[in-house]
Order: sequence, then structure tokens, then C-alpha cells
Amino acid sequence: MNAFSRRGACPALSAPMQTGDGRLVRLNPVAGGVSPKSLLGLGESALRHGNGIMEVTARGSLQIRGLTPASARLLAVEVDAMGIAASTGVPVETGPLAGLDPEEIADPRPLAERIRAAIEDAGLAQRLGPKVSVIVDGGGRLTMDAVSADVRLAAMRIDAGVQWLVAVAGDRQNATPLVMVEEDAARDIAVAILRMVAEKGREAHARDLSERQLTSPASWHSFAPAKDRLPLTAAPAPSPIGLFPLGGDATALGIGLPFGSMPAQKLIELTQRAFTLGATEIRLAPGRALVFIGLSPTACRSLQQTAATLGFLTDAADPRTRIAACPGAPACASGRIATRDIAETIAAENRDILDSSLTLHISGCAKGCAHPGPAALTLVGGENGAGLVVDGTAKALPAGYRPGYDAARGIGRIAAAIREARLRGDTTAACLTRLGAAGVAELYRQE
Ligand code: SF4
Repeated sequence: MNAFSRRGACPALSAPMQTGDGRLVRLNPVAGGVSPKSLLGLGESALRHGNGIMEVTARGSLQIRGLTPASARLLAVEVDAMGIAASTGVPVETGPLAGLDPEEIADPRPLAERIRAAIEDAGLAQRLGPKVSVIVDGGGRLTMDAVSADVRLAAMRIDAGVQWLVAVAGDRQNATPLVMVEEDAARDIAVAILRMVAEKGREAHARDLSERQLTSPASWHSFAPAKDRLPLTAAPAPSPIGLFPLGGDATALGIGLPFGSMPAQKLIELTQRAFTLGATEIRLAPGRALVFIGLSPTACRSLQQTAATLGFLTDAADPRTRIAACPGAPACASGRIATRDIAETIAAENRDILDSSLTLHISGCAKGCAHPGPAALTLVGGENGAGLVVDGTAKALPAGYRPGYDAARGIGRIAAAIREARLRGDTTAACLTRLGAAGVAELYRQE
């Protein structure tokens, strides 16, 4: 087993990852987007070689599932023939409206490109683990605040100019800020941090660096520490779903995939319509969405209608955007519960409690593919049916069980108690805290 095929590695095209439903290929276009023609080609390849399901992840990567070793090789050949430049080294990610949003502080793409080149020159790609990443966030309406990275550079307006806030290990809210510097220094510091991570080995991340390592290098000694100048607070993650005027007649349209996946055939139909309407590029967006570029406002509205008819998400307030659910049974061979059916029922019956304070994760098994981190409520499939984990991950021991077919009713009991306990202005998370973990588990178990 080589370093790229081990469990937990990012499944780049050349190294598909074994999952519960065959091999999985994850594709990150270097430019952050693809042409409509390329997306059509990818959809057709997914139909030919995979299980016909395409996904966009919470991080904004495209995934094709259900491949065999042989079909994954064929897919890689076809992607290559389509001329899609897929990122194979350290991902250096920018936001889905990078370079287009009149509200962004700086176009992050030139700096991202310079960092990619410096990583290449330094030979770091082979020495870093497959999950080490860099974010270059130019600000604007669709920031990368909610996406974690080892190194994050965020554009800041300081006095009359732009500086880059360098932070490590986390999302916008919990990353550790280091310094605020000009573009050249930002690139040098980002690469210096990656070099230190590489020296610690292929399993290392920026979070493994010591405070001394992060503060001592001479290259950024002379700069003022960022934390003395700026609090690293973040607004709630912006939804990529909806219309984003770009100035003049140009408008970007964000369309979501329910629970991050759609049959390839529907994606093909949507892309064909977008192409007919004049879309020039389709970008992958964190938050499991696609952003269509090059459309007029009228064309956007027309594509929105098509998307809604096909079952895509066109409303940022759609309750399905609040639930993370993996393919589960029967799509995934490891799935013990019908995650998507349960999620659809919960979303349809409990719209009022699915506010942005709640993380609800429905996982077919303890692997927790759709949401590796902790969630306020996790339903997880196992031998005993659908277990409920309160404030934990899918790997934790559930506090109570119901039969899988009846799991949505258990969440319904919790939702009813939240409605009763809710005080004016209360969030769902606040109500859950008041009910307590033991109380929530008891509600779930109740007949
Ligand atoms: S978490 Fe879901 S997608 Fe992942 S292996 Fe388990 S059932 Fe399959």
C-alpha cells in the first residue's frame, strides 16, 4: 500500500480511495472551475464508469463514486483527454467568486498561483501529506471562512492598501493568526510554514507545529503579530446558493446539490441548459454547490427554474442545506440506514427547528464520511439500527437507538420538545443545551 492509497488519504484522480461503495475519485480543478463542456464530459464519464452519482463536498471538491480499479483508470484517461487541469499537489484554494466579485478586497488568484509555483519549486508536494492545504481568501460575498486549512491568507483592507493576514491550522474562526504582511511576504511565510510541516513528516499538519516554530523564524520576525492588531472573528458562513450580481449585466448563480449529491444525468441536464443559456464557467463552491458564471440575470432565473424542477437547491433557506447526510443505504454497501430518505423526512417535517445554529449529521455507518467533525445531533447506522450521538461524531458510542426506518420519528420527538422549550429569540442549539444530552437521548428513545 503506498502513501496515497492508505485510508484517509485524499483520493486524487491517480489514486482513487476505497470506500464502502467502490472507489472514489475526488477532483479539484486548479482554476476552481470547469467549462460547461468539461462538466458535461465528467457527467458522462461518471455515468459510464461510476455508479451514476456525482457529489460536491462541503469543501467544494467534485467526487465520482462507485468506481472499480479498472473503471477509475479509464475515468482518469478521459479527464486527461478533456484537458481539465486537476490539482494533484497541495491544494491552494480560492473562493468561488475569486476575481469576479466587485466586493472582494483583492483578487486572490495571482497570490495563489505564486504559492503553487513556490511549492513546486521547493519540491514540497511530495513531502506533504495529502490533506495539507492552503487557502487564499480575497474576501467579498463568498469567503472561505468556514473551510479549514493548514495555512490561510485572508486579504484585509489596511489604511489605503491591502495586506494579507496569515493564520494557521483552522477555519477563519479558530485558526491561529500570526502576522499581517504584504503579498510577497505572505507567499514566503506560507511556504516557510509548509516547509516546517514537511520536515515533521507526511502525517504532519500545521497544528503540529510548536508555538516557538510559528513565532521564531526570522522571515516574519519583523512584522507585528496579527493577533495584536485584529480579532479573528468570522461572520456565519455565507451560503453559496442564490444570485450574486457581479456588476453590469453579469450575475453568478449558485445552485446547491441536496446533501451534496445528484444523479449524474440530472447534472448533465442542468449543465446542458446552462450552456444553452450562455454559461461560460462552472465553479465548485464550499457548501456543496455549483456557481454558474457568464449568465445574464434573465438567464440565471431561467436556469434556477430548471434547477428547481430537477431537484437541485435554489433557496439558501432550504432546510436540506442544514443537514449533512452521506449516500448511506442502499447506495453505499457499508450503509446500515437509508440516510437520504431519513434526511428528506426530517427536513420536510421540521423546517422550523433547522436553523443555522444546528448541525445535524446522518451517517450510514460509523465512518462518518459526510461530516467527520462533531455535530450537535448525529444519527448513525449500526447493528442496532439508527443510533443517536449528542455532541459527538459518528464514531462515538450512541446514547440511544431506534430502528432505522423509524429514526426520523425520534428526531421529531426532539423537535417537538425544542418547540415547547423555545423562548423568544432562542436558537435550536440553545434549546438543545437546555434540554441536556441525557434528556435529548431519552426523547429520541421514546415510543
Ligand atoms: S459513512 Fe456513509 S458513505 Fe461513508 S462508508 Fe459509511 S455508509 Fe458509506
